[in-house]
Amino acid sequence: MKADVIVVGAGPAGSVAGSILARKGLSVLCLEAGTFPRFQIGESLLPRCNDILEEAGLLEAVHSRHYMPKPAALFLRGEKTERFCFAEMFPGQRPAAMQVPRADFDQTLSTQARKYGVDVRFQQRVDAVELAPDGSQVKVSVTDLETNAKYTAEGRFLIDCSGYGRVLPKLLNLESPSQLGPRMAVFTHVEGDQRPEGPAEGDIWVCIHPEGAWTWIIPFSNGRTSIGVVAERALFEKHGKTDHEALHSLLKSDPNIQKRMSKAVPVMKTTRLEGWSAAVSRFHGPGWAVTGNASEFLDPIFSSGVTLALESSSRAAKLVARQLTGEKVDWDVEYTPPMKRAVGVFRTFVQTWYDGLLQNVFMHQNKPDRFKRAITSVLGGYVLDEQNPFVRDAEGTLRNLQKLM
Ligand SMILES: Cc1cc2nc3c(=O)[nH]c(=O)nc-3n(C[C@H](O)[C@H](O)[C@H](O)COP(=O)(O)OP(=O)(O)OC[C@H]3O[C@@H](n4cnc5c(N)ncnc54)[C@H](O)[C@@H]3O)c2cc1C
Repeated sequence: MKADVIVVGAGPAGSVAGSILARKGLSVLCLEAGTFPRFQIGESLLPRCNDILEEAGLLEAVHSRHYMPKPAALFLRGEKTERFCFAEMFPGQRPAAMQVPRADFDQTLSTQARKYGVDVRFQQRVDAVELAPDGSQVKVSVTDLETNAKYTAEGRFLIDCSGYGRVLPKLLNLESPSQLGPRMAVFTHVEGDQRPEGPAEGDIWVCIHPEGAWTWIIPFSNGRTSIGVVAERALFEKHGKTDHEALHSLLKSDPNIQKRMSKAVPVMKTTRLEGWSAAVSRFHGPGWAVTGNASEFLDPIFSSGVTLALESSSRAAKLVARQLTGEKVDWDVEYTPPMKRAVGVFRTFVQTWYDGLLQNVFMHQNKPDRFKRAITSVLGGYVLDEQNPFVRDAEGTLRNLQKLM
């Protein structure tokens, strides 16, 4: 099998990269180990996703699914609440995002990618790669999981969009320790969630638990709601012997959740994930690039995962298209620095969230408007917007804001 570009994985990163390349006339083979639809975590998008989906030609297909509009992120700590409304960001930034059940969302994207000509193949697991040192050719060894047949596929470039599979980081020894501490999430989907009325129905709720955990509440338009707690493992162990017991004990001990979820019933098996933070020593090399969760993943707290996956895969795809049509591309200028910057802004937000500084800043009621707007824009995923002081210097701006308050 031959194609101009081999894309590993048909999650959001893979479908966006594939669509951009196919629409530019390149042949794309997208190899996906799983079958769709399948459950995936990562259900709350940021407004920035809409820009990238539109550019990749995928937004119309997504809109046709009528997902829940997400106008804001609401943070709750005891009696205090603070709402960051995406309509109040910088000019030109999208006023809302979407809450998406990922089984449906990922399938929608991959089906549309196929309509653009991407050769998406399911149950095809990439096991090994061979890269020509001059970057002119890549070969991947694949197992067809349906028949167990093994074969090779060849391309001129490989984009790794394998997410948690981390194909190239494992095969090329790119794994690098994450600077974030280990945390665990336990979650489920429920029905019977008593939601706020009006447009605020679609807000993501982030409830800060008195014992240091936090809970996400993500309402879908299909009547179901995703709910999950993130904490250090010891706190779950303190709250119950099983994941189910620990999850429901933690949920019941937060009055904000208790009020909203008093009639809610789980409709999905309680699930646990942990040890998700990961990083890479390099984002690209001759003939290859890593994107999305296959490159770096921080933490679920600001719902940055899919946005960064789309940001990196669309950027990589556009560079690959230029390179394969004969242009000289300097990946060390056009790919690595913006990706490091985008991840870096969120990393500072994540670190200062867990050390308590950001939680205090968020919950402070008298933030100057210009700072609230800038924070909201980061929460909207606009982490490459140089007009934002948090993008230019996240940590310095946070310390200044703290002094000011
Ligand atoms: C607890 C938790 C909560 C989260 N909540 C959010 C949230 O609310 N919002 C958000 O934006 N993000 C969230 N995330 C992050 C989100 O899950 C990821 O960032 C996102 O799914 C990354 O997309 P991707 O396309 O890079 O990878 P994925 O979605 O992981 O897709 C990768 C695809 O590659 C395939 N694959 C893997 N290995 C191989 C192989 N060897 N060969 C072929 N195919 C392969 C997989 O089957 C998969 O379909 C959360 C993460 C966690 C841990």
